[in-house]
Amino acid sequence: MGWVTEDAPTSAELDACITCGLCLPVCPTFRVTGDETASPRGRLAAMSAVAEGVAAVDETFEEVMGLCLVCRACEVVCPSLVPFGRAMEGARVEIAAQRPSAARRARHAALGGGLGSRALVGAASAAAAMAQRVRFDRIAPGPLGRMRGMRRLPVRPASVVGTVAPARGERIGRAALLAGCVMDRWFAPVHEATIGLLTLAGYDVEVPAAQTCCGALAAHDGAAAEAREHATGNVAAFAGYDVVVADAAGCTAHLKGYGHWAGEAGAELAGRVRDVTEVVAGLIDEGRLPASSVDRGPVAIQDPCHLRHAQRVVAAPRSIVRAAGYSPVEIDPQALCCGAAGIYMTLQPEMSDELGTRKADQVRATGLTLVASANPGCEMQLRSHLGEGYRIAHPVELLWEVLRTKY
Ligand code: SF4
Ligand code: SF4
Repeated sequence: MGWVTEDAPTSAELDACITCGLCLPVCPTFRVTGDETASPRGRLAAMSAVAEGVAAVDETFEEVMGLCLVCRACEVVCPSLVPFGRAMEGARVEIAAQRPSAARRARHAALGGGLGSRALVGAASAAAAMAQRVRFDRIAPGPLGRMRGMRRLPVRPASVVGTVAPARGERIGRAALLAGCVMDRWFAPVHEATIGLLTLAGYDVEVPAAQTCCGALAAHDGAAAEAREHATGNVAAFAGYDVVVADAAGCTAHLKGYGHWAGEAGAELAGRVRDVTEVVAGLIDEGRLPASSVDRGPVAIQDPCHLRHAQRVVAAPRSIVRAAGYSPVEIDPQALCCGAAGIYMTLQPEMSDELGTRKADQVRATGLTLVASANPGCEMQLRSHLGEGYRIAHPVELLWEVLRTKY
């Protein structure tokens, strides 16, 4: 039957693969399984077979595509610049269109209108906070076991949506912050640090009330209509700001790809989007944020895939922890995925756990108990697999802790 949607992988995307295999050693699922069908090259071959009409979008195809983390490590080493993440999102839109199921429809409704509703996200967060307090994960392991990985949730979760924070001192521009869905309710200290650092450096910061979820979780699960709805809403909400900042690497990476989901207007917004680590590192370089001269010791650096592979941001988080007085310690030169990958941790729990265990072992090998990570999913995965006695913080939190008491 071939492809049936406008989002399907294109011939140009698939034909770019020269089957060299350079991507295999950096693919986490190939590293675990040693199986060609769990590699980028194998997955592209399966997509090409469907495009050529020699294979169908069937159960096997769904399994092969479902095990991919969309971590995009393969894109970094690919000599043919195959846009693998885009092709995989397209393949998943096709699976949703050609293999409809009640479970997927319910999931897509949650990733669309569910995450787009502040009232629903707030209610779900309050319920999660209660579940966390009575430790449901002890009697119902599995997805609820992830409770161990969450920060201590507030029973009445905070939201920064609607915040207007003026610049302190010389004004250098007008910034908007993407509050995010999970970030807004569960990671308030990261938002507080972002707003604090940007205003200290001279930005007026606003968190527009009209914004919605970035849509990354919907796009990764093949929920095309929901991903478009989120993108279109945010294009309107973030019009006119000098810079649009996100402090969850997965959200920033997705906003930078809005050209696909919201056309020209989406591409225009994408051109103004920066990850908070990029912005803050730039402000340190310009001397608009001071660096601490106190030696606070080493910190292990965990690179989120959607910061390092999808956005190619490597130096910025290291610059920020240095400015806070810490010495960055590398844990993994290839920055293999930790296995969180959004809702992957619930859809593919075995592979997610295997990769989470490997990442935790890399941290333990350093002997350090402080880890810097710029993405909430990675933070939850690390907390879950490292257990008690470790602190995982966003790089901007570490810097703001130092500066907030002085300014
Ligand atoms: S590195 Fe690129 S061109 Fe080579 S096999 Fe992988 S996807 Fe294909
Ligand atoms: S996105 Fe990640 S998991 Fe998927 S094929 Fe590429 S390297 Fe492998």
